[in-house]
Amino acid sequence: MDFKNKKVLITGASRGIGKATALAFAAKGAQVGINFRNNREAAERTLAELPGEGHRLFQYDVSVKEDTKSLIEDFVQAYGKLDILVNNAGIGAFHAIDEVDFNTWTQAWEDILGTNLTAVANTCYWAVQAMIAQGGGRIVNVSSRGAFRGEPVQPAYGASKAALNSLSQSLAKQLAPHHIYVGVVAPGFTDTDMAAEALTPKERENLLRESPFQRMAKPEEVAHAILFLASEGAEYSSGTIIDVNGASYLR
Ligand code: NAP
Repeated sequence: MDFKNKKVLITGASRGIGKATALAFAAKGAQVGINFRNNREAAERTLAELPGEGHRLFQYDVSVKEDTKSLIEDFVQAYGKLDILVNNAGIGAFHAIDEVDFNTWTQAWEDILGTNLTAVANTCYWAVQAMIAQGGGRIVNVSSRGAFRGEPVQPAYGASKAALNSLSQSLAKQLAPHHIYVGVVAPGFTDTDMAAEALTPKERENLLRESPFQRMAKPEEVAHAILFLASEGAEYSSGTIIDVNGASYLR
């Protein structure tokens, strides 16, 4: 896969899967825009690690609708075009219906849908305007195994990712005539801060057992699928959802 001189924007690229994806695109010749929300130190470290030239940081909170417009405008102003958008930024939180009070419950739905679903819809809106004007583009959205198998203690997370799959497939149908291709990667348990923060050692052990590989995904393995969907030749795969879950949940 060759991404020489492709202009790639990755949301939530300071850490985890987004960072691995930024490294993988940069290693194949792309200029990468690293979006992040708060953690400037991590974003600066990621920027310094990227091979090649011309990478930049874009600090915007994609859950704020005005920020999605500014993010895409700034990117296009900096690079002249947007070839590939990876909507990777995402959050999770435990809010089991039989364990939390109503305020915690409603806040979890608002926050998680705001970042994992509405933010992607809004970022896509502005990206698509730019891509139509330039004659095409590619979008890859990062979903989750949780979209398919249920997330008992993080129901808003599972629902946000199921809705993200639907959004992506709707856009794939609507945008193919504009030469804009939309794919989804649905990782299982992946070795990032999100996985580390969310789990007790016991929960972690149980999750590892779900895969016959008896391990988590490496962020690089998720990045590999993202690059495939963004690559030349993957156009007819538009609308697909690639599972990267170590055969832990087969559908
Ligand atoms: P992570 O290690 O927690 O990193 C999250 C990244 O998203 C950070 O760069 C963070 O920026 C950024 N971010 C969060 N909210 C943002 C916002 N509102 N605006 C801009 N940036 C924002 O996460 P990860 O594990 O790599 O997860 C990446 C994606 O994969 C998510 O969509 C997640 O749902 C999905 N996923 C993860 C797993 C897993 O087991 N890890 C499994 C399935 C799916 P700051 O550094 O500034 O905070």
